Amino acid sequence: MVRIDSLSINGVSHHLLLDDNHPSFAYRLGVDLDDQLVLAYQRARLVFSNGYTQDFDSSFELTYNGPEFAPLTDYEATLEVKLDNETLTKTISFSTGFMSNKWKGEWISDASYEFVEKKVSPKVMTFHKGINVDKKIKKAIAYCTAMGIYFLKLNDKKVGDAYLAPGFTTYTKNLQYQGYDLTSLLKEGNNDLYVVVSGGWAVGSFVFSRGNRYYADRQAILGEIHIEYEDGSKEVIATSKEWDVTTEGPYLLADIYDGETFDNNVSLTNVSYHKASIETLKKVPSWIHADISCPVKVYKTIEPKLMRKDGNVSIYDLGENLAGIVHLDISKAEGNEKIIVHHAEVLTEEGKLNLSLLRSAKATITYITSKGKQEYSPEFTYMGCRYISIEAPETVKVKPTYLCLTSEIDEISTFECSNEMLNRLEKNIRNSARSNFVDIPTDCPQRDERMGWTGDISIFAKTACFTYDIRRFLEKWLYDMRFEQNKGGGFPNTIPSHCYDFPVTMPKMAVDHWGDAILNVPYDLYMAYGDKEILRTNYEAMKGYVKACAFWAKIWGVGKYRYIWHTPAMLHFGDWVAPDVDKMSAWQGRSKFTATASLAYCASLLSKIASLLGETEDSKKYEELAKKVGDAYSSIFLDKEGKLKGKDEFQTGYVLPLSYKMIESPRQKEGALKNLVRMIEKNNYRIGTGFPGTPRILDVLADNGYIDVAYKMLLCTDKPSWLYNVKCGGTSIWEKFDGMNEDGIARKSEDGTGEMISFNHYASGSVGSFLYERILGIRIVEPGYRKFMVKPELGGDITHASGKKLTRFGEISVSWKKEEDSFSIDVEVPYLADCTLVLPNGEKYELAFGKHHYGCPIYK
Ligand code: BGC
Repeated sequence: MVRIDSLSINGVSHHLLLDDNHPSFAYRLGVDLDDQLVLAYQRARLVFSNGYTQDFDSSFELTYNGPEFAPLTDYEATLEVKLDNETLTKTISFSTGFMSNKWKGEWISDASYEFVEKKVSPKVMTFHKGINVDKKIKKAIAYCTAMGIYFLKLNDKKVGDAYLAPGFTTYTKNLQYQGYDLTSLLKEGNNDLYVVVSGGWAVGSFVFSRGNRYYADRQAILGEIHIEYEDGSKEVIATSKEWDVTTEGPYLLADIYDGETFDNNVSLTNVSYHKASIETLKKVPSWIHADISCPVKVYKTIEPKLMRKDGNVSIYDLGENLAGIVHLDISKAEGNEKIIVHHAEVLTEEGKLNLSLLRSAKATITYITSKGKQEYSPEFTYMGCRYISIEAPETVKVKPTYLCLTSEIDEISTFECSNEMLNRLEKNIRNSARSNFVDIPTDCPQRDERMGWTGDISIFAKTACFTYDIRRFLEKWLYDMRFEQNKGGGFPNTIPSHCYDFPVTMPKMAVDHWGDAILNVPYDLYMAYGDKEILRTNYEAMKGYVKACAFWAKIWGVGKYRYIWHTPAMLHFGDWVAPDVDKMSAWQGRSKFTATASLAYCASLLSKIASLLGETEDSKKYEELAKKVGDAYSSIFLDKEGKLKGKDEFQTGYVLPLSYKMIESPRQKEGALKNLVRMIEKNNYRIGTGFPGTPRILDVLADNGYIDVAYKMLLCTDKPSWLYNVKCGGTSIWEKFDGMNEDGIARKSEDGTGEMISFNHYASGSVGSFLYERILGIRIVEPGYRKFMVKPELGGDITHASGKKLTRFGEISVSWKKEEDSFSIDVEVPYLADCTLVLPNGEKYELAFGKHHYGCPIYK
């Protein structure tokens, strides 16, 4: 039987608030694969409650093109899927927000609070409004946003289960508001509504320079509560100077990096308020729109294990290195006792928490008790850690739980194979993804960064797309990326940038491999979901970036050197964190190679994208550019035998031109490959690549007849390697392959980056795509997995692998087994998708939907 398994709007399958006249709808069908008789699919259409009807064309994705939606209105869309003799239906509801209409509410703040201190976050501001309810309510929705991080509290309960609203965006251009359904929460009589706001990203101290007030001088809020009564009357309560405000309250400190100090003796009802003031914000966009994010929520809770107790200090192990917040269950308190919680990823030799790697981030929770039983968990911060220490007087009982936070993104695949170390590596990749998908794709969740570094997601997006349904999350981030593009076409290296733009901008540089995110991220999303619109939306920004890269290459040279991009090394990141040289200057010193390769790659990818979009002229132009750059790299950097000239031999220097197909001459190409393999063998299969080379080295080997070398590298457990992490008991992906000694102690970093050793950086987890594509064997043939290939590539000691991958067309399932001299595989192909199965002996089968079992002999 065919079923409609899901219907989503803008990537979510629950009721959505939106300010979008062209939302996108997608559906997924499911079929019981044991069914003998499956009805044939004919067509699908959406019928909207405003009377409009639209057909899905050949794809499973539909962009609404009907009449404009009215503001603040509820709608329904019903999907009709017509099969032979039967029509299936499913309905999704959504509401519009203000659309382009003006708010009645005004931005309000506390003008009496002058916040001038540098490098710290402001006091928490709390706004209050009494709401008197004397009639039966039919519907009540609160709309709210803030400069700062806020949450709503109605009477004595937090409204909703999301954290860190209104989200992290480029507030000058892109500010979101949230909607909260208060219908069942407002009680008859008096209600106290509070909006509690910390400095957050907009006003608080952020970026490792610890600046503050990036977007506003102090916190401010904008809100409206729309109440509809059963008797048909309506009321709007809007933010105005009639609201009350205070900077007193239980939060004595709230800072993303430093944590919170909370005094439970103070409550929002026993502090003094004064009237709010109207705030004129200079940096706020004129159009504020409904939330387009995947809200940050708790995705699992952990009971930490007590490891040790030293006097008043108990040290707990969460078992895994993740991002989140502690929840404290406190009893037997007398009042005014201090409970102090520290967080760290690793321990020191003495068994204490290693706090030095957090750099300036204090990551501390200080809680002051009132008398009796109480519970607390922070609202305005989050920490990346595996260990927590809790200091509390002996008399007080404190029970911690850890609430793991991440953006609400579904996990859509599984992976398992016969090698337990690889399984752990894959789990670590998921842990680091979860820890760094906190409203934006961050570099790490613990130290004074937690920023949207472009280079990290650029290389991780492909792996992430396999593991998670990440489209909405990344589209939100790309929205900011486009806003932040500079006039020359380059991008800040962190999005949102927060005025932070290392390396020095001169004027507005383009930075290789980091800026490439504008091509890589949309392209990976297109491949995973099959929607060309994402390419179209980002096309101009991509063109601008490639133009900037070509410009920066050109101004430094003549002749062929116009295609060698060698701006001063300190303006790039080069072969960032390559473990074969332990100096930041040495990574950056390789930037003429990485930047030139990036230019060739981006030009060639843009040529492909242009052709997909029917931009034939552009496509030709970029292909020619890619050729010229490839030729320059091959003739200037490589000798005739494909060896890097001079003393500059390094793994990434070969990986990039091979992966980006920059070398024309077969002799040079063959030579480059052999040189790469020779270097790897000489290095005992240990990895030597930095950010640019790491996601590609195994694919280059596998694609060019060296799958055995690829497996040896993947399975190597010596330092530095992927599995060295697992050997050391790693539970997340590290920033540096060699960041830890085998005894679990962080190594001293003497590379010029200060204490730049994070144990939760997903970037080198980009090896995930090798596990999925080569070991499990699932690959995209037609975007969105309309057509896919299953082609496991045997190697190493792996004797079986199995996994599932949910696609727009349904779930793909693969499970294979290798015995002495035979191979067998089970494949499930979803309804309306096609699959090419390639067995290890080269036999090929075209599979339609259903369950399939194949096998072949293996000859050694
Ligand atoms: C971050 C990275 C980032 C890099 C840029 C680091 O501090 O943690 O992951 O891409 O800087 O070089």
